[in-house]
Amino acid sequence: MKVLKFGGTSVGTAESLRNVEKIILGNTEPIVVVVSALGGLTDKLLATAAKAASGDESYKADVESIRQRHYDIVEAVVKDPERKRDCLEKITPLLDELERTYMGVNLLQYLNTPISDKIVSFGERISSIIVAAMIPTSTHLDSLEIFKTENRFGKNIVVNALTLANIREAAHPEAGKPIIAGGFISKDLNSAAITNLGRGGSDFTAALFAAALDADVLEIWTDVDGFLTSDPRIIPEARLIPEMSFVESLELCTFGAKVVYPPTIYPVFQKNIPIKILNTHNPEAPGTMIKDFDNKLLKNCSHVRGLSALKDVHLIQIKTGDEAVNNTVSSRIFNALALNGINVFLTVKLDEHDGFTIALRKDECEAALALIRKEFAPEISAGKISAVDCIEGLTMIALVGENILGHGEISHRIIHTLQREEIPTLAVSEGASRTTVTITVPEAHTNRSLQLIHSLFYS
Ligand code: ADP
Ligand code: ASP
Ligand code: MG
Repeated sequence: MKVLKFGGTSVGTAESLRNVEKIILGNTEPIVVVVSALGGLTDKLLATAAKAASGDESYKADVESIRQRHYDIVEAVVKDPERKRDCLEKITPLLDELERTYMGVNLLQYLNTPISDKIVSFGERISSIIVAAMIPTSTHLDSLEIFKTENRFGKNIVVNALTLANIREAAHPEAGKPIIAGGFISKDLNSAAITNLGRGGSDFTAALFAAALDADVLEIWTDVDGFLTSDPRIIPEARLIPEMSFVESLELCTFGAKVVYPPTIYPVFQKNIPIKILNTHNPEAPGTMIKDFDNKLLKNCSHVRGLSALKDVHLIQIKTGDEAVNNTVSSRIFNALALNGINVFLTVKLDEHDGFTIALRKDECEAALALIRKEFAPEISAGKISAVDCIEGLTMIALVGENILGHGEISHRIIHTLQREEIPTLAVSEGASRTTVTITVPEAHTNRSLQLIHSLFYS
């Protein structure tokens, strides 16, 4: 069996939904189809919520246009009159509930995460009903009843074993009878409040379906011909990558390649289920195959597979002048942060007595600084740590390829190239794996750095 996931870019218009219909009907084997909200809708739902909460009455016109957009799509893509009526009867109460939720937010001029999570959930709840209405032999599954999360350190984490068991209980795909489900959405295991798997999370929903049902392949249908050597919006000449390893895809996506939501890779990697990236608007294109690279394949690897850029990175520098402190500083930082669910991308040891630099996301920096200052309070007041500083507004550029380390002086070539254009490099790391080199540059130089590095390796 296969799992097919169609992103917002595939379900944005009546025309692309017709392509989706053709692709679904072209499958003769059992399939599960996971869909995102209509393209751009999640952003619109959130922007409208912010408007309503600020007391801006124009939110009402936005709610009306959201309603109309769904009705227009149903009108255009659901041809059978009975199925159309049934579909409208299912989505109208949801649109009404969405409208009432916005009214409440507007009345109270108050919005918090649970309300906002409820509001965004309507995107996938409604789009999945519409896609199911388009396909006469399909069954619709309610993802809210299947995907369960738990709150840890303020983040919604999927309760894996329960979710996989729920999928196996609810989904029994048969040839010619596609199962359609909304991506992204979930419920909190304890409070039953609506939650989600994070922006871009429909990919992860699809991967969990694939892992639970031992799919032969996970197909991610999007709006590009496959995984490219870099973001085509920044590098128009980026090339298609015909195949790549799980590790390469994980590294590229972790460092900002938007093609696949990073948590997606792990459940399918673990079960050795390949991922295919395919283009809904050009279904004939061969796409990219992401798969396990055995030793034979790995032997032939040594070139840069692709590059990506992660914005909104901050560096925290801990300056120590004391060797005894220096020896334990990294383990203490990692412990303090990990216990609070903060993820460090990179550590760089400065000169022997100088201390450490760590890289993390902007939104975690403030909490990290407070934790580090608390952990090292005795050393700071004794002067053994001279400073804990933060450098803001950075981008980490990652060059990824199995075995790229140990083949030539990649980082030197990059630093040299960037220096020629007077682009400062703040931290360079040849990671713990042999697959990734990262270079940290000021955010303003992101695009130029990507262009220079891309032409260095691909022209
Ligand atoms: P979907 O709505 O299908 O989930 P996304 O917008 O999340 O689509 O992801 C697809 C987009 O990812 C592409 O339109 C492209 O602009 C962007 N992208 C970024 N980096 C890459 C890359 N290396 N290869 C292909 N696409 C990329
Ligand atoms: N609709 C959600 C988002 O825009 C989830 C997804 O598209 O994967 O983030
Ligand atoms: Mg996506």
